[in-house]
Amino acid sequence: MKDAKRGIPMILEKGSAPNRPIKVLSDVPRVYLPLAYGEERRCRPVVADYDTVMRGGLLGQPQDAEDIALYSTVTGVVAGMRHINHPLYGQLTCSVVDRILSEETQEEPIPQMPDDLSPAELIAAAKQAGIVDELDGVQLHAKLQSWADFDTPLCLLADAIEPEPYQSSAYAVLKYYGRQVLIGLRLAAKAAGIPMTRILLQTAYTRIRKMAMQFDPNDIHGIRRRRYPVFNKEPAGTEGRCGFIGVQACLALYRAAAFGTPHTDGFITVAGDALETSHNLQVPFGTPIEEALTACGIGKNVSLLLIGDALTGVEFTDRSLPILPGMTCLVALRDPINYRVRSCIGCGQCAAVCHKGLLPYEISKRFENMQYERLAMLEPEDCDGCGVCTAVCPAHRPIAQAVLQAGDSAGGTIFVDWGDDAWNP
Ligand code: SF4
Ligand code: SF4
Repeated sequence: MKDAKRGIPMILEKGSAPNRPIKVLSDVPRVYLPLAYGEERRCRPVVADYDTVMRGGLLGQPQDAEDIALYSTVTGVVAGMRHINHPLYGQLTCSVVDRILSEETQEEPIPQMPDDLSPAELIAAAKQAGIVDELDGVQLHAKLQSWADFDTPLCLLADAIEPEPYQSSAYAVLKYYGRQVLIGLRLAAKAAGIPMTRILLQTAYTRIRKMAMQFDPNDIHGIRRRRYPVFNKEPAGTEGRCGFIGVQACLALYRAAAFGTPHTDGFITVAGDALETSHNLQVPFGTPIEEALTACGIGKNVSLLLIGDALTGVEFTDRSLPILPGMTCLVALRDPINYRVRSCIGCGQCAAVCHKGLLPYEISKRFENMQYERLAMLEPEDCDGCGVCTAVCPAHRPIAQAVLQAGDSAGGTIFVDWGDDAWNP
């Protein structure tokens, strides 16, 4: 059951970051670039320690032919390997590159019309450039190929809604590179054989409305809803038949098709009251988070650091973690949040706000009591992790997390983490 009044009114904390020019961090001294993501994705290094690599030069060849290669995001010297436990990506084996030259970040003139490329050539360009869609972390060429092969959407939407409080990186990219994003979106649609494209914006806000004026009205699909989360995102007549893509992925595809440029940089909002100034930054992938926080004047009083935004972000403490494709927001907060988690008081607020019509308290109770056979009927797998139930819970229970875990287990396979204590009773 969906109800337009569900969700919560959203207080926006985007501040002045969207109004400032994008700040380019081109002088980071060191980057960490993953050759391996756990057991799932692996690249074979093609350079040795102390070799010099150019920005955009090859660092690793994929072991799986369908996978993307790894490129250096700075010009520098290979300085060994580092193993990192990343809260979003798990165990990473990273190639370390120390930057040696200052680099100018300048857009080159267009050497060719990307419109001349065929769908197959566009998909090959996305793969060659190593583009990862920041919306879902999926490799763009795989996404486009799968749309071209199966269940082709009726409409491709570049999702720039950013409904959570702090993030404005998609807005900044659209504001400064709007035309290129639009061309990239159309190229993506051409590659996958999708007949219609739109840029998805939450036009309830004046700032967005002004920015949207740079586009033809037919290029925009505006959402007026002011509550979080935002649903009903699809244009009339295309419901359930839309594909979604990030604006950074569109820009990267445009650059790959027009210049043959690898996807080496990302755009990330760095915001929060523990910073002197919030900014949208352009950073080479692999840049340590510390560099981004320093560029925004991080103070000593920091109580909470999040990768992602306030409702769905993941807490972290290690500031040397690299910024990787898919990370589009960092939040640094000053005021300590000392919420004591209490027992559920059965108030039902979590169910009242859930835009998927779920019963979060009941799901979490059955999950905690291991009543798995009675879990499936509550359909926890429908949860999209929007975090609204956690935000409204007066007992400060991390209930969204419990519902997501219950959703993972509802398929019938239960994985129990017994922990080390099971072997040390
Ligand atoms: S996190 Fe899941 S259960 Fe909680 S409000 Fe969002 S969709 Fe509903
Ligand atoms: S909002 Fe919190 S306290 Fe209220 S029913 Fe849901 S889990 Fe229980």
